Amino acid sequence: MIEVKNLRKQFVIKDKVFGIEKGVVNAVNGIDFEISKGETLGLVGESGSGKSTIGRLILRLLEPTDGKVFLDGRDISTIGNREFRKLRKELQVIFQNPYAALDTKMIVQDILTQPLQIHKIVNPLDYKKEVERLLEMVGLPKEDGKKLPHEFSGGQRQRIAIAKALATRPKFIVCDEAVSALDVSVQSQILNLLMDLQEEFGLSYLFISHDLSVIRHVSHKVAVMYLGKIVEKGMVDEIFENPKHPYTKALMSASPIPEPGKQLNRIKLEGEIPSAMEIPKGCAFHDRCIQKLEKCCAIEPPMIKLESGRVVACHLYMKGDEQGEK
Ligand code: SF4
Repeated sequence: MIEVKNLRKQFVIKDKVFGIEKGVVNAVNGIDFEISKGETLGLVGESGSGKSTIGRLILRLLEPTDGKVFLDGRDISTIGNREFRKLRKELQVIFQNPYAALDTKMIVQDILTQPLQIHKIVNPLDYKKEVERLLEMVGLPKEDGKKLPHEFSGGQRQRIAIAKALATRPKFIVCDEAVSALDVSVQSQILNLLMDLQEEFGLSYLFISHDLSVIRHVSHKVAVMYLGKIVEKGMVDEIFENPKHPYTKALMSASPIPEPGKQLNRIKLEGEIPSAMEIPKGCAFHDRCIQKLEKCCAIEPPMIKLESGRVVACHLYMKGDEQGEK
């Protein structure tokens, strides 16, 4: 239901005093993926890989430099702002910090009534009942509607942010580090809540997180990003248990496996992710890759479809191949 095609975003950096162009940040460099109804795509990668920018581009909080976003087959990247506002209720976001989404001076009941009013979700006579329903859905008592955001714990505030996102009855939600600021025990409560809501309402999620165990817990499919590109994409278990791309291997080797005694050999990633203003030639990962070939410094690897259906951008693999040159 969400389809992203060749999505790109460049930020032009200008000198603050003279306004002269200093360079271009290639934050997102031609991304393709699909998320079906009731499905979660986990997006992983180091900070600076472009994960959050993708979420913002889909929601049109940023304008893409190129590429398209489709919702149920309709191109929503080029429709006018007025038309997009009508569709806005279908696409929601949950950020890391719920304070960003909640007006701290308003009681919860008013916070949750706002989207109902703006998007005309229910009859005004039913606002109170609908707010109570939303609170119940996220596991909060209806009496909490009378409280201000600061009267809640971090986990409860995130529940309110989720209720607010659900108020417009969306089809698709971007969860951008949605549980990163919470304690581990609260994290699992919120993740389970999101998964229950997904099952009940057929929601689709783009789940952005730097935490691989969170991604593994919630995702059906995973896309691994490096310097604005997807380098590997596939079903969650195959990506975590048998990663193919050297970057994915390094990332996953640091992630605990939920099977006692089993652990991938730890691969230490040397160096820092390069600047998105100076993306290396050839494979962007070649400076840090322990398996690099001669051609990796000069030729950018194409996205190859492996036998199992997963895709990987690495010269070690050929079309239909699964093993690669080990
Ligand atoms: Fe490493 Fe080459 Fe594959 Fe890039 S293309 S990940 S440098 S082996």
